[in-house]
Amino acid sequence: MDIRNNINIFQNLLSSKSCQLVAVGKMHPIEKIKEAYDAGQRVFGENKVQELVGKQSTLPKDIEWHLIGHLQSNKVKQVVPFVALIHAVDSFKLLEEIHKQGKKINRVIPCLLQIHIAKEETKFGFDEEEVIALIKAEKINQLDSIAIIGLMGMATFTSDSDQVRKEFRNLKLLFDKIGEMKLPANITMKELSMGMSQDYQIAIEEGSTLIRIGTAIFGGR
Ligand SMILES: *Cc1c(COP(=O)(O)O)cnc(C)c1O
Repeated sequence: MDIRNNINIFQNLLSSKSCQLVAVGKMHPIEKIKEAYDAGQRVFGENKVQELVGKQSTLPKDIEWHLIGHLQSNKVKQVVPFVALIHAVDSFKLLEEIHKQGKKINRVIPCLLQIHIAKEETKFGFDEEEVIALIKAEKINQLDSIAIIGLMGMATFTSDSDQVRKEFRNLKLLFDKIGEMKLPANITMKELSMGMSQDYQIAIEEGSTLIRIGTAIFGGR
């Protein structure tokens, strides 16, 4: 894989769009991430806390680190000091823990709510009803050390592009619907994280603001 060239391709693709690249280096060594960094990339994502913390401590300090994978409450403490965005918040309990740990170090932690959009069975993510209820809940505006800045979703793993498009479109509709609601001060709908190596083109067409790309930059894992 020519990592520099791949980064350049994405830079060109996104230059005229209001969508940002999150380069996902999971399972790839530091040297490969450094190649992407040297090509100008500054936003990186990891899906595991341990790998995120390890890479963050070694790589240049001007990198913006995103946690894109599932986060367990007992690991929140390790990421709050530096994480720029947590993509996959899937419970109120987790929001409370992020708030609690953020408060301790006087830092507001940007988060996205993960929405379950795929056909696949998974225990992760809110459905539409749940997320609307969460946003309307009285107790959410007390969590002043979190900032919910948008939504995240993963489409069904399928070659059926109509299905993928439908799922992304529904997520964008929900994003817009919430954006028009009366929201507490700690919720805004600015970022819509959708699209991976397989489906980022569709995601961009459907309004993604953050694509999370691993394989198409770094090669297979
Ligand atoms: C691994 C991963 C990605 C990137 O996947 P690719 O198919 O390699 O681009 C995106 N989002 C999440 C949540 C991931 O875990």
